[in-house]
Amino acid sequence: MLLQNKQIAIVGGGPGGLTLARLLQVKGLSVKVYERDNNKSGRQQGATLDLHYESGLKALNIAGLMQAFKQSYRPGAERMTIVDNNATIHYTERDELPLQDLDSEYARPEIDRGPLRDLLIASLHDDTIVWGSKFSSLQQNGNGWNLFFENGTTAYADLVIAADGSNSQVRKYVTDIQRVYSGFTIVEGNVYNAATNAPQLWQLTNGGKVFALWNGKTVFLSAKGEGSLSFYTSTRETEDWAKTAASSFADKAQVHAWFKERFADWSYDWHEIFASNASYFVVRPQYYFPANQYWQTLPNLTMIGDAAHATPPVGEGVNQAMLDALELYEALCIAGHDTVEAAIANYEQGMLSRTAIATTDALDMVATMQSANNLQSMLHFFNGAKEAKTN
Ligand SMILES: Cc1cc2nc3c(=O)[nH]c(=O)nc-3n(C[C@H](O)[C@H](O)[C@H](O)COP(=O)(O)OP(=O)(O)OC[C@H]3O[C@@H](n4cnc5c(N)ncnc54)[C@H](O)[C@@H]3O)c2cc1C
Repeated sequence: MLLQNKQIAIVGGGPGGLTLARLLQVKGLSVKVYERDNNKSGRQQGATLDLHYESGLKALNIAGLMQAFKQSYRPGAERMTIVDNNATIHYTERDELPLQDLDSEYARPEIDRGPLRDLLIASLHDDTIVWGSKFSSLQQNGNGWNLFFENGTTAYADLVIAADGSNSQVRKYVTDIQRVYSGFTIVEGNVYNAATNAPQLWQLTNGGKVFALWNGKTVFLSAKGEGSLSFYTSTRETEDWAKTAASSFADKAQVHAWFKERFADWSYDWHEIFASNASYFVVRPQYYFPANQYWQTLPNLTMIGDAAHATPPVGEGVNQAMLDALELYEALCIAGHDTVEAAIANYEQGMLSRTAIATTDALDMVATMQSANNLQSMLHFFNGAKEAKTN
């Protein structure tokens, strides 16, 4: 096998990096994941994720983790309700039976981010993840690389894989193609113990997801298994707004004041998410890498997930990251290439053409969500998808 007795370093322990580590480790290969978080309980925030039959679920299946997934996913959490600025319901799946058949091509089972990360971590040997390792730089060492971390430690690897997200620090060693600001910014947050702290919106989710759209702005809610309400707003803002806003966003009253002004044409129902003190907020400007990006394959360094092809969220990012992990694993361990470089070239060719389409689709979807008649467009989309499923 190509990587027998070689050391593999994955930088970043998100869904992409952890899935790849699991796949390589099952093949008996020597792999370390260098993760900036200090331990596994760091930052379990973020919305629930739907994994797709042809990508995220497929990767879990081949990694031998479907049983673990079945114990942690949340049947019913996939049910969507679409509302307007007054929280009036225009479309809902809340009366549908919870998804049971994970083998259906329409399967989109939901799992919270924390449990997904936990099950991937639990599938790895104990010493695989090197916590507290914030990557800072790389230096060529013979046929491999020395990795340097902010805590002063170093490591050697024959093959390095960047899985460190959309603000990847490893990416610049592969290509100088920069990320592009999409024109809109997300304010993401969580209301803890939402049944008490945001009771009306918690009830509106009914254990599932709520997508509110009106006049170019959106609010997305999802009920999490541990009782918190995860949400994010999307609005068109200048790129540097995040920097100015972030400084005042430490003060919750200021966040609420911003929301009142920016969403002045939305009803008071939505203020619940900002009125509670049992919450956290983070401002995330949304970036993407160009759909037509291309770089010369390197012999021993590549990228997966958001580091390679971030887009604003449209429900594909985790799925594409996990599919990258699967396809890179297959190129390195199954396809029978003569060299690691040939395996990487084969993976990158497929990944770049697949994600060029995913990026174009994501940007089209974002344009739709930002349009004045976003509610009507989204209703058209969901009604069409429902019809396809029942035919
Ligand atoms: C608000 C929001 C909602 C979303 N909703 C969905 C959804 O419903 N479905 C979906 O499929 N996708 C969704 N996405 C997108 C999805 O989160 C990403 O596409 C996905 O997490 C990418 O996985 P990854 O493993 O490539 O990177 P990440 O998940 O970003 O993981 C990167 C990892 O690298 C670590 N890291 C970063 N820098 C360093 C460093 N210098 N050194 C060491 N470690 C480092 C980080 O701590 C992290 O653990 C959403 C994104 C946002 C912002």
